[in-house]
Amino acid sequence: MIDGHVHLENGDLSVEYAMQFVEAAAAKGIDTLQILDHTHRFIEFSPMYDGVRNASPLQAQWLSKKIKDHLSDYHRLIDEMKQIKLPVRVLFGLEVCYTPEAEPFLKEILSQFPYDFLVGSIHSIDGILYDMPFSRELLWDVQEADAIYQRYYTLLEQVITSGLFTQVAHPDTIKLFNIYPSYDLHPTFERLAKLAAAHHVKMENNTGCHYRYHTEDIGLSDAFITALVKEDASIITASDAHYPDHVGNYIREATQRIEEIRDQISSHS
Ligand SMILES: [Zn+2]
Ligand SMILES: [Zn+2]
Repeated sequence: MIDGHVHLENGDLSVEYAMQFVEAAAAKGIDTLQILDHTHRFIEFSPMYDGVRNASPLQAQWLSKKIKDHLSDYHRLIDEMKQIKLPVRVLFGLEVCYTPEAEPFLKEILSQFPYDFLVGSIHSIDGILYDMPFSRELLWDVQEADAIYQRYYTLLEQVITSGLFTQVAHPDTIKLFNIYPSYDLHPTFERLAKLAAAHHVKMENNTGCHYRYHTEDIGLSDAFITALVKEDASIITASDAHYPDHVGNYIREATQRIEEIRDQISSHS
């Protein structure tokens, strides 16, 4: 089993802290663990958050608490971890908050570092974060759900086609507050699945929304998984753990759901 997305962000960038994640993975039967942190942890990425910062003082305040370390500290940790014999396969990357405006900046900065993997994610809709306690006031109460979903999925297409990433973070977390659009999402899932297959990016079946926001789906919706399987797009399971205790959360169930859907599809074809 793979846990393709766990964060060190609530601890320091030390071997001791990272090892808590590795040991939790080993204990839960995870054989590949992908460790990452958000670009908003690192001072070097600060310029690309001007849009988020300027959109609301609430967001500026949130960001000022998040940005705290230098990338060189993360790279030192990676070097140290690569010297140690670990009980599971461990890869290191970044979760990059993508915006179209940041593309030239990202091309330049990301090409300098040989990460094992790079995850592109959408956390904001034109500068407004959609998954914060204050997001209702700033976004969901202001814009129609249909418009939010349409923009989210347009941005997600750009994540896939940008050529910057090997993996796409939680491609349907926009459902986290259980607010759904009035239109049918099947064509959207099919288009994204085709693009993911064509651009060879892994789509996350991310369980974070289930245990943090209590969405009914354990990860992606069945409709989204079905589209990915039919298009032969690659899917990676991910817990989005922000603490060692959450490593591997619902990965077994998420893996099983993909297999069940795969079986259903192959028995009908
Ligand atoms: Zn994320
Ligand atoms: Zn994450």
